Amino acid sequence: MSDILLSMKSAGGTRFDLPFALSVYHRPLMDLLHRAHLTHRAHFDPNRVQLSRLLSIKTGGCPEDCAYCSQSVRNGAKLSATKLMEVEKVLAEARKARDSGATRYCMGAAWREPKDRDMDMIEAMVHGVRDLGMETCMTLGMLSEDQAVRLARAGLDYYNHNIDTSEAHYPQVIGTRTFADRIDTLARVRAAGIKVCSGGILGMGETVEDRVSMLVTLANLPEPPESVPINMLIPIEGTPLAQAKPVDAISFVRMVALARLLMPTSVLRLSAGRKGMSDELQAMCFFAGANSIFMGERLLTADNPETDDDLALFGRLGLQPMASDVRA
Ligand code: SF4
Repeated sequence: MSDILLSMKSAGGTRFDLPFALSVYHRPLMDLLHRAHLTHRAHFDPNRVQLSRLLSIKTGGCPEDCAYCSQSVRNGAKLSATKLMEVEKVLAEARKARDSGATRYCMGAAWREPKDRDMDMIEAMVHGVRDLGMETCMTLGMLSEDQAVRLARAGLDYYNHNIDTSEAHYPQVIGTRTFADRIDTLARVRAAGIKVCSGGILGMGETVEDRVSMLVTLANLPEPPESVPINMLIPIEGTPLAQAKPVDAISFVRMVALARLLMPTSVLRLSAGRKGMSDELQAMCFFAGANSIFMGERLLTADNPETDDDLALFGRLGLQPMASDVRA
């Protein structure tokens, strides 16, 4: 396997090759997990997991047509739209999250892109959460160059903007913006000096090749994302993907292992869909290289495991929270 990875690297400098990545994905599972775990240990303490918490600061009413999302006005999911939350309310929630052990606070708004008139409040949220001693992450849709610079100046640590799936499958899922739009925003975020959080969703009718291609795209960015969320689709009634076929657990673990091999120093987050995973599947994912979770009972509009259940699982697995590198 190490020979395989060396040839993946040497084939095109730091660029990875889809057929080769696919061949690694299809290796015997024990070989794949063994190599992914060794890579994980070479770069991280395997018994530490980073804890993030996600708050929806503006829910619903989104003009985009993402087929998986309950917040789109174009989908039939029953969800009432809210206005942008007041800064003080956001900070009160962030304080609670910090007190329950989260080191990163992620704030998400259901927008195509932020309006310039909202930026003062957004920046105040970033300042306030940083003052609590937490890492900050925002997910607000597409950004202009000016908006990315403003967020960087406010001290934003991470910007989340998922590529969602492969370039080939993307038009089956989203029609209101292109894959290239996503990549352009990631480039603006990177150019502004903000760390990149970008991953995707499994289970949206894509092939294995699409899944692997998504990881290859992320790994082949000029710099791979520092943070890579891997979501399992939560099919939501009223959305076009309500009847999507679930991803089988072994395929999911293979994707985590491949992500670890392609992006050895990125933090890999088990994100949406964790509530539907068994403890054993989560343990396998941590072994394969996942080292971050969202904690808290709600993930934007979807259910997430209870914090007590997560703490119990951490106790059984001997896992500890990863420390934040941000100081108040
Ligand atoms: S995923 Fe984001 S951009 Fe897409 S519809 Fe939902 S809130 Fe809007």
